[in-house]
Amino acid sequence: MARGQKSLTVHLVSLGCAKNLVDSERLLGLLSDLGLAPTTEPVKADLIVVNTCAFIGPAAQESIETILELSQRRKPGAKLAVVGCLPARDRSALLADLPEADLLVSRAEYARLPELVGELFRQKNPLRKKPFEAWPRLLGTPPWRAFLKIAEGCDNHCAYCLIPRIRGALVCRSLPSLISEARELARRGVQELTLVAQDLTAWRDGERDLGELVAALAGIKSLKWLRLMYAYPNRLTEKLVKRLAQTPKVVPYLDLPIQHAAPQVLKRMGRPYVDCRKLVNRLRKWWPGVALRTTLMVGFPGETEEDFEKLRLLVTEARFEHLGVFQFEPEEPAPAARFPDQIPRAVGKKRRSILLSLQKKIALAHQRARLGEELTVLVEGPATESSLVMTGRAYFQAPEVDGLIYFDGPQPVSGQMVQARVLKAQAYDLAVGLIEPKAALGSRASQL
Ligand code: SF4
Repeated sequence: MARGQKSLTVHLVSLGCAKNLVDSERLLGLLSDLGLAPTTEPVKADLIVVNTCAFIGPAAQESIETILELSQRRKPGAKLAVVGCLPARDRSALLADLPEADLLVSRAEYARLPELVGELFRQKNPLRKKPFEAWPRLLGTPPWRAFLKIAEGCDNHCAYCLIPRIRGALVCRSLPSLISEARELARRGVQELTLVAQDLTAWRDGERDLGELVAALAGIKSLKWLRLMYAYPNRLTEKLVKRLAQTPKVVPYLDLPIQHAAPQVLKRMGRPYVDCRKLVNRLRKWWPGVALRTTLMVGFPGETEEDFEKLRLLVTEARFEHLGVFQFEPEEPAPAARFPDQIPRAVGKKRRSILLSLQKKIALAHQRARLGEELTVLVEGPATESSLVMTGRAYFQAPEVDGLIYFDGPQPVSGQMVQARVLKAQAYDLAVGLIEPKAALGSRASQL
């Protein structure tokens, strides 16, 4: 804000996925550069920003409820900005149905934010001509870990998905800009960097692919763990996977949303067919010890009992360490919303619970196989249940989506990496005993 003008405060709420969180961190960096100091109290804020998610109906509904709740709580004269996916999905409906919002800004318009916020407060903001990705980030994650968004948008056009429409076509960040951002994050104390994008494996910078990006990131001294989320199954080549497996610091963990196992269903989804059972066996051969996470969708239009049986067989045989199962949601104007043979919700719901209960047994077996194992644990801090119990994660647990590790606290401090031995196993969480530093094994196993 111009010199001599009242300093203002901003309260930002970030909804949705890790990719949206990175945007929120950059929005806060941009707004604080404009002189709006972040506040955690919406009632004190001069500007309230809701970074919305809208890729499916329930997410859009949650965004609207959050906007209305914050609009109620705002102080007189405070402004409300609705940004992100909801304005990109259906601006005209928002303009009509959401008079509470003073500003609607989709992701594609973020470069105009200095000007738009200036207008909102009738203040002239000197134009700041820099791309949104160049704004600093005020981290929303604990200081020892962060997400690195390597690309925006998506060029795959899955028939049920609105993301290409909401977030646009694939735009990859350049290798130098990603390295400088990762260096800055490492300088600020980040040890675990989780790479995210709609489709991580689509990343390119000229001839350079994901393998080269990860190798370059591994060169940043103080980074300890590099983690990969959202890999597109049919782009996981032997060359790429073996390169990841041999790159230091890359934790043996891979998230690859497969969505379905029946060729006909994948075809109607607009996704290429991959024999997932073969792929999983190959991944486990190319990258020994890799923990696999996937996402499956049930209830897609035309899904027969035979198709579902293929999914059930995949889950049984692939034995993923982590599995998310979504029920198909007809999202206008995604093409699948108008496909014939829509599956009754009750059938989809039943199929989802069958896969989740099957997976729970598989997850428990994986966890029990770790009893007595020595692990490196990244300490995340006190448990929500009790400050005498600490939590952490091992290489096979991604932040915010997988289970946790529990151990008696209050030491060691958050952000530290410690050695521990698995004492108890549940389907999603583990209890460990800390190993005194001097007793820790020196092997690579103990590095992970
Ligand atoms: S790859 Fe993912 S983000 Fe891209 S269209 Fe398909 S489901 Fe949507």
